[in-house]
Amino acid sequence: LSVPNTPEIPYIKGDGVGIDITPAMIEIVDAAVAKSYAGEKKIIWQELLAGEAAFAETGDYLPEATLEALTAHLIAIKGPLMTPIGGGFRSLNVTLRQKFDLFANVRPVTYFPGVASPVKHPENVNMTIFRENTEDIYAGIEFESESADATRLIEILKSDFGINKIRFDKTSAIGIKPVSPDGSKRLVRAAFEHAIAHGNQRVTLVHKGNIMKFTEGGFKKWGYEVAKDYPTFTVNDFNAIKADKGLEAAKTAKVQALADGKIYVDDAIADNFLQQILLNPSDYQVVATLNLNGDYISDALAAQVGGIGISPGANINFITGHAIFEATHGTAPDIAGLGLANPSSLILSSVMMLEFLGWNGAAKAIESALAAAVSDAQTTKDLGGTLTTADFTQAVIERL
Ligand code: NAD
Repeated sequence: LSVPNTPEIPYIKGDGVGIDITPAMIEIVDAAVAKSYAGEKKIIWQELLAGEAAFAETGDYLPEATLEALTAHLIAIKGPLMTPIGGGFRSLNVTLRQKFDLFANVRPVTYFPGVASPVKHPENVNMTIFRENTEDIYAGIEFESESADATRLIEILKSDFGINKIRFDKTSAIGIKPVSPDGSKRLVRAAFEHAIAHGNQRVTLVHKGNIMKFTEGGFKKWGYEVAKDYPTFTVNDFNAIKADKGLEAAKTAKVQALADGKIYVDDAIADNFLQQILLNPSDYQVVATLNLNGDYISDALAAQVGGIGISPGANINFITGHAIFEATHGTAPDIAGLGLANPSSLILSSVMMLEFLGWNGAAKAIESALAAAVSDAQTTKDLGGTLTTADFTQAVIERL
């Protein structure tokens, strides 16, 4: 990206705790940028309306002006948005992801020492999840039980395709799971590019191809095809050498490939993978997976490092460069507006955004300051501390 010294970046404050955490994030980013670049660089923030605030002002949850501004600016950052009931939307987040074809949901999961964790060795968790964001059962192609469409579809499947499974009648609700080669490949490519940029030497494709052979199995197959375009040593290469020359030769070849800087690529079935990330998290570095698997895996990993309050995320189209960085948690209505929310998820999302801009100095400064605050037990209530959002913000700024 070619980034001016004073880029205009739109932000959506968000609903619920959005009003607590977004100003905190902006204050910290401004302080870190000013400090890191001696006043040479500065973000010009542009507030956009979406969600409840937009509805109150314009009668529209996602006003046209917001969509136009997001189209004009490649990069934006947002707080959580409530899903309006009966607003004509499945979810505002899903709408934004689909509108800008933000095909990769990127979720780095890192442990910050000092955060309470339910596992014995949270420090072993250091992974980045690439979750496909536009396809799979999340595409929103669903038919309600007993609806005319579901009934018609079932009749066609029965008569034209000979599908006569038990309990497959008009009372069945139906969901369609589209998974395409192009959709899978562009996601896996983004995962490889990330691995190369960050010196990671393991990429794992996670799927349920044992059961869903063409959709999830297709993802796995296409993932290995992409691996051929990168300097990789795959589990298939390992098995071929093992079959030909024995286990020791295969192990030696793998060690040599890693010493040569190649990336080791393997795959895991999603249920086993959820076990493995609890038992042997340090084995994994970059994970590429489909939409639903990625949803479960990201939150399960986030829980291991202290919860979604401290896990960042971004939705990125690596081809057009469109990216929306976001808090991964919801609007937390139970604590909204009380000044108690933990702004870390959005702050760490801003770190991802600064890295995306190439402003690594400011990104590193914020990450280190936040880690120092947490390690000094300067945390909000959800992480066992007593600080308000504003006090935590100052604790981070003091450590920049
Ligand atoms: P939630 O994440 O809002 O809350 C779950 C629990 O986590 C609550 O106890 C909450 O207090 C706590 N929590 C969440 N964020 C916190 C923070 N920053 N600091 C401290 N504690 C925090 O999930 P929910 O209750 O299932 O969803 C509420 C609303 O948020 C729904 O309308 C949902 O659609 C929406 N939502 C939005 C997004 C998004 O915008 N990306 C994601 C998930 C849910």
